[in-house]
Amino acid sequence: MIIIMEEPKSRQEVALIDAQVKAVADLLRQEGFNADISRGVERNIVGLLGKIEPERAESFMARVRSMPGVVKVERISTPYPRVALRTKPEGTTVPINGIAVGGNQLLVIAGPCAVESEEQLEAAMTAVKELGAGAFRAGAYKPRTGPYSFQGLGEAGCIMLRQAKLRHRFPTVSEVTAPGLISQMYDAVDVFQVGMRNMQNFELLRALGRQRKPVLLKRNQAVTLDEFLQAAEYIAVGNSQIILCLRGTRREYGMETRYTPDIGDIAVLKRKTHLPVVWDPSHAAGDRNLVIPLALAGIAAGADGLLVEFHPNPMAALSDADQQLDSEQLAQLMAAARRVAEAVGRTL
Ligand code: PEP
Ligand code: MN
Repeated sequence: MIIIMEEPKSRQEVALIDAQVKAVADLLRQEGFNADISRGVERNIVGLLGKIEPERAESFMARVRSMPGVVKVERISTPYPRVALRTKPEGTTVPINGIAVGGNQLLVIAGPCAVESEEQLEAAMTAVKELGAGAFRAGAYKPRTGPYSFQGLGEAGCIMLRQAKLRHRFPTVSEVTAPGLISQMYDAVDVFQVGMRNMQNFELLRALGRQRKPVLLKRNQAVTLDEFLQAAEYIAVGNSQIILCLRGTRREYGMETRYTPDIGDIAVLKRKTHLPVVWDPSHAAGDRNLVIPLALAGIAAGADGLLVEFHPNPMAALSDADQQLDSEQLAQLMAAARRVAEAVGRTL
């Protein structure tokens, strides 16, 4: 933390400002920090040396800011210390189905937007497993933009998902939309997904920090990466098993994809955080014909895996019908993704 003090405007003021600088330094020392005073020609700067707990930083900054002679208090520490790269430069890996996500091997998570029926679920999971993906994804709770769109099968969908997971011994990912649903969904999922609409549902994030399963956190369409990482920090307070997922940001006018593909941010995130980053080309594209090229671009940009929508009969899908791949396309994607992964020194 850096505290910038007022500059003396007259000789008489020098002693006054000196006393103010001393008062600030004394406070820092009283509170257990070291103070580094640097006297410049125009400015006096007091640096706080020592680690300040994130929970305490904001109120302490406000207290210092209110002291006489203080012009500005700037934080140089990160607002997301638990997930920042410098905290763990070797990176975090999250184990799913024998793959250390965040390591060299990529994870492909595939499945329909929603659980729609026993038959659809069975056909989808069989195909996803056969085609070589590493985990299955389907929503029982679907937070939709409008109240008249298909909202998912809820608890019935969860029960089907749990049964399919046990039948196939295959890991599942599914979206949780409220803290109260965590216990109901617990046995149906291996990874809890937080969708972009709930990315700043802080009660939900805190609750996911109090349980042990990994969390796949999707970026909201309209937040900065620093806001995204602060959302991850809420979970990281209690649970470090977090996978970040980019899925496109708010669409610019004149673009043909559903959202603006934030592929460049995969590479940026890798410089900011030690958490694994997966890429969802399906929601970014909104069109199944664009999913494969966007998926490959994400791998090339450094993604640790893909989250891809797949439906055994996409035309009949009850949600996101336009963007779900069919079996032939998923097979094509797997083959092409393997080649691109190898080209960038990864495996799939
Ligand atoms: C989804 O993954 O099916 C979904 C609804 O995604 P998002 O939260 O990114 O819109
Ligand atoms: Mn979807």
